[in-house]
Amino acid sequence: MLPQAFSGSLFIVAAPSGAGKSSLVNALLAQEPGIKLSISTTTRQPRPGELDGEHYHFTTAEDFVTRAERGEFLEWAEVHGNYYGTSRLLVEQQMKNGTDILLEIDWQGARQVKKLFPDAAGIFILPPSIEALEERLHKRGTDEPHIITRRLLAAGGEIAHAPEFEYAIINEEFNVALAELQAIVKATRCRFAQQAARNATLFAQLGIHAHQPQS
Ligand code: 5GP
Repeated sequence: MLPQAFSGSLFIVAAPSGAGKSSLVNALLAQEPGIKLSISTTTRQPRPGELDGEHYHFTTAEDFVTRAERGEFLEWAEVHGNYYGTSRLLVEQQMKNGTDILLEIDWQGARQVKKLFPDAAGIFILPPSIEALEERLHKRGTDEPHIITRRLLAAGGEIAHAPEFEYAIINEEFNVALAELQAIVKATRCRFAQQAARNATLFAQLGIHAHQPQS
């Protein structure tokens, strides 16, 4: 259960690259104002068009390691040769204020977060077929075969951890996948503990206490 101090819900979304995770997450965020994306810190180079503070907080490996040692990250991991981490302070502050937070992270980070927040909703986005995944990876910028092979191998590595998540969404039809993602968000918000944390006054008025004795 989430500590009582947190009235916001926590969502973890993971996927192999090429499954369409970012498009789905962006569409969800556009439709659900109460949910915010945690902007990760990374040591990888910005891609063309990526802005510091918007897509990621870009930093050096030296700075990242110092901050990791200070415990500034809720979770962190090395992915494809770069470090990625989630700011502990930002996530905890926003969740205390009742904001729902979505983490777009890999399976290693998801594992660490689930240890700290067992009630976090883990969602894994899957491609509709291996062919569709290959096709999407081919379409991404470079066509160099060895890069595509590396990405496919990495995708396989990420997919191997899909069973660690509570929810699986197959991204075949974008709108269907988006509706499923929204349904998960809505259902998670209605969990008893979350409702009790968000509506403490109402629950007290109705005489509902956190731990009801079983009859
Ligand atoms: P990209 O470099 O393509 O944006 O992301 C590469 C991988 O790193 C993706 O699987 C993404 O979900 C993951 N990632 C992004 N931010 C974080 C983070 O803060 N922590 C962890 N563990 N993984 C992250």
